[in-house]
Amino acid sequence: MRLIALEVNGFKSFADPQKLSFPVGMTAVVGPNGCGKSNISDALAWVLGEQRATLLRGAEMADVIFAGTGQRKPMGMAEVKLTLEMPDPGHPGSVREVVISRRLYRDTGSEYRINGRECRLKDVSDLLMDTGMGTRAYSFIQQGQIDLILSSKPKDRRSLLEEAAGITRYKLRRTDAERR
Ligand code: ATP
Ligand code: MG
Repeated sequence: MRLIALEVNGFKSFADPQKLSFPVGMTAVVGPNGCGKSNISDALAWVLGEQRATLLRGAEMADVIFAGTGQRKPMGMAEVKLTLEMPDPGHPGSVREVVISRRLYRDTGSEYRINGRECRLKDVSDLLMDTGMGTRAYSFIQQGQIDLILSSKPKDRRSLLEEAAGITRYKLRRTDAERR
């Protein structure tokens, strides 16, 4: 599982379309205060389906749409596209590229797409399950979260380990089967 590229358009401070590429290895984002570094990680969380506006540092979801500046009008839509390299379930041992995208117009809900085809948020969550990449998984560690993990209840901490071990999918299937 690897990030390949992130495209933002009208998301927070990114009024113009921008494409960020993540080469193999580690990527660090540097820049002066307020230049938009955290907006990049917000864009990542958002495209993966984050529903909590406060976690994206806004009051409501529409706050992710470019709100305008003295020189520029606000925009009506935010879009983020993420290209990932994932294991290919059809060909064990090989990988495939998947593009997940999310769009939000003012006053309407979000639209999600996987490889250009419109889908539900649940399809995005299902695709990411057990990869560690979901919005509630461990691939986003925010400031103060390490403390939270160390002080969390054993059951909550266990769910992180289960996600890392890739067994969340099977647990959910079992709960589903037991309910029927
Ligand atoms: P620091 O080094 O202080 O953490 P940073 O590089 O992480 O800074 P961000 O928090 O990513 O900076 O970006 C903050 C900037 O994004 C602010 O200037 C803010 O006005 C702008 N911004 C946030 N939301 C929007 C929006 N919806 N429309 C326009 N600009 C926005
Ligand atoms: Mg920041």
